[in-house]
Amino acid sequence: MSYPGLIVLRYGELFLKGGNRRAFERLLRRNVERALDGAANTLERGQGRLFARCEQTELPRLTRRLQRVFGLSSVSPALPATIDHQDIDGTIKHLAEVAAAIIEQRARPATFKVETRRADKRFPLTSIEISQRVGGLVAERTSITPSMHHPELGVGIEIGQQASFVFVDRLPGAGGLPVGCEGRVALLLSGGIDSPIAGHLMQKRGCELVAIYFHSPPYTSTHAQDKVVQLGERLAIAQGGLRLLVVPFTEIQCDIRDNAPPRLAVLLYRRMMMRIANALARRHDALALATGENLGQVASQTLHNLACIEQASELPILRPLLSYDKHDTIALARELGTFEISTLPHEDCCSLFVPKHPETRGDPLKLARAERELDSALLDAAVERTERIDL
Ligand code: ATP
Ligand code: MG
Repeated sequence: MSYPGLIVLRYGELFLKGGNRRAFERLLRRNVERALDGAANTLERGQGRLFARCEQTELPRLTRRLQRVFGLSSVSPALPATIDHQDIDGTIKHLAEVAAAIIEQRARPATFKVETRRADKRFPLTSIEISQRVGGLVAERTSITPSMHHPELGVGIEIGQQASFVFVDRLPGAGGLPVGCEGRVALLLSGGIDSPIAGHLMQKRGCELVAIYFHSPPYTSTHAQDKVVQLGERLAIAQGGLRLLVVPFTEIQCDIRDNAPPRLAVLLYRRMMMRIANALARRHDALALATGENLGQVASQTLHNLACIEQASELPILRPLLSYDKHDTIALARELGTFEISTLPHEDCCSLFVPKHPETRGDPLKLARAERELDSALLDAAVERTERIDL
């Protein structure tokens, strides 16, 4: 026999106005449907909420998936209840049975408290009356003591127009905005710790990602690319798929290594990356680039150098980690499950070609002069030979 379950998805809607709000709700619903992946029977809309009906056995798995959907403030697995406005006693008894069933699924608490929210005012008892009568019956059934002030377990009852239900947990949602409501961003995704987190933060602000990876075979192995694919797969979850563009970067790096001052090499690689990323971003309708760059973390990321890198890009470069401390980024990476992937041994295409004394105070004039010695045809060739992998 199957028992019905219900997942309550709450979103803060107060800050949303007019057309914004409609777009927010449409995208949120789409993303929730993707996360449910056909496992829910129905998805209904309430005031600032969505209700997904599913099998009770699916509640833990689906709740975990839904906690990753951006735009939700909290998620509650619940058991649905049936409200009969004509039959008060029968409804109270039914609510007590459902509440007792939820309590019995957990480690036995010493005390509990029932709290009711009655959005559907047709039901003739007040919220307080419902809580008291249900609480009394639950205490009888379970012989657990009700406590008004310091209950060990709080049991919530909601009587609404769209759905009525009983729940205990109010789990944190991922917050942010639904992916897609801010348009597309091209993420420069390396195998490192930072760039996947930068992508995650852009998704949280509503951006859909297309990822660009600069690959330098044979200096970087297929393992390095596999890592990027794995990171991309992790980012794909929040948006139901991800386009990964793999740019062949070896010839450009060799040209720079052989024909430019070694001190400038890293900045020259970065500027080339930006030019290629701009061309690819336009082809894939991205409005901006995003990187995992951070101010002052490594020699290449001084303010002088970021300014030099910026000059090679027409599109804005977004750097969501700019002010992060490394341990904050690592904490997020662990939470997201990318840390284990990012710390697999690999070669970074830039670290292989990094000179002993990289420039820390880049000078745009010197860089432009050095670039005149490079083969500009390699840029277009790299764009043309870029491969697309759909994750
Ligand atoms: P990450 O951990 O993201 O690699 P990092 O702190 O190691 O960052 P760098 O390796 O200097 O810093 O790179 C800075 C940013 O440039 C990266 O966050 C990434 O956005 C981009 N980047 C660097 N190498 C590549 C690459 N091979 N392909 C795509 N993007 C890259
Ligand atoms: Mg790196």
